[in-house]
Amino acid sequence: MVAASMMLITNGKIITWGEPAQVLDGQAILVSNGVIQEIGPQPDMARSHPETDRLDAKGGYIMPGNICAHTHFYGAFARGLAIPGPAPKDFPEILQKLWWPLDKSLTLEDVHASAQVMLVDAIRNGTTTLFDHHASPNAIEGSLDVIGEAVAKSGLRAVLCYEVTDRDGMDRAKAGIAENQRFIRRVEQENPAGGRLRAAFGLHASLTLSNGTLQACRDAVGEGVGFHIHVAEHEADEYDSLAKSGTRVVDRLERAGILGEKTIVAHAVHIDAREASLLERSATWVTHQPRSNMNNGVGVASVESLLRLGVRVGIGTDGFSHTMWEEWKTAYLLHKVWNRDPRRFSGYDVIQTGVYNNAALANAYFNGLNLGSLTPGAAADLIIVDYHPHTPLTESNLPWHILFGFNESMITTTIVNGEILMRERVLTTMDEEAIAAHARELALKVWERYQTFVP
Ligand SMILES: [Zn+2]
Repeated sequence: MVAASMMLITNGKIITWGEPAQVLDGQAILVSNGVIQEIGPQPDMARSHPETDRLDAKGGYIMPGNICAHTHFYGAFARGLAIPGPAPKDFPEILQKLWWPLDKSLTLEDVHASAQVMLVDAIRNGTTTLFDHHASPNAIEGSLDVIGEAVAKSGLRAVLCYEVTDRDGMDRAKAGIAENQRFIRRVEQENPAGGRLRAAFGLHASLTLSNGTLQACRDAVGEGVGFHIHVAEHEADEYDSLAKSGTRVVDRLERAGILGEKTIVAHAVHIDAREASLLERSATWVTHQPRSNMNNGVGVASVESLLRLGVRVGIGTDGFSHTMWEEWKTAYLLHKVWNRDPRRFSGYDVIQTGVYNNAALANAYFNGLNLGSLTPGAAADLIIVDYHPHTPLTESNLPWHILFGFNESMITTTIVNGEILMRERVLTTMDEEAIAAHARELALKVWERYQTFVP
């Protein structure tokens, strides 16, 4: 880790986010002990801190690192994997033919390697805090420590959980519960990775959880712990819940005590109005993953309606590359074509979900760090973007500059907690080539095992 205890970031334009967002010109940022100490006019700052190390932003934009509200590091080995037989015709078949045999193929070594690959991707693409949802049914115990180790080495922040499910039998459901319980306790007691790790309690989805297992998960942890679960990604989840419990998924989770102000439900594509209202009343978080939803052909979540109702909707990648601006752009375009109305899901909606709500979610877990905004006292989690627009960029048109001008390949520098994780596009904490080479070796064995599990 390149531990810059103190640095002055100069020669950049600062996008603060925060509300209201500001674009500051001619100002410098003083960072020490992982925190933004001061933002002020560059000449004054330079004069009062002559000895401090400089980080030259070279005229680019300095802004908070992006936040990913829902991802799966374990999905790394899916890239380029051949699914045998005819292509899956719907989402339940995608689970059966791709994700479930793939997660069974993972050893702890594979889990570590896939996390490393995804963390390299996150640093490169300026995503500094990630909410991961993990599955490896043949390597459950210790899997969260292994991911945690990779996160610690990378220098990023992450909230980890293990997805409990009944689909591999009761012993593994119990092992999943124990893994969440153990890791939640470990994070509370040991504060590993210098406080850059947090834990949630993972659940796969209503459709693979019995009433008994849901109850056991609820009983396993105290009230203050948040759950992280897929909800109504496909109609199958609702049909299963109606058959199993006589009620819809969100009602079922509410009865089981799973909703709440730290709980995250991913997707919510097929929920109805009452379910939306239950999410709002319980202050449960919803995450939107438009690239994944489009890829799986599952439909489009009613994100604008949820926002109008007061539901806190954020944006995740669901294991796609951690290019958050790509995900924002996809949301921006998808809701327009889906509704055949170019006014839908405006730049403001993009910022509300992708910036403000994701930051609020991150701060619900990383209490007191003030993630997602550049302001004195906030954690120094920031990126530098080599963007030189040919039209004026102001507070009022910033969302559209990002949607039509920004690209993750313009990110030159990624900093978390005041530590430089990428400088001038060179990673400092992770050996990118060695990680990719090791993963390519493991991938062959993962793919071989996958062929033995695929139906
Ligand atoms: Zn997911």
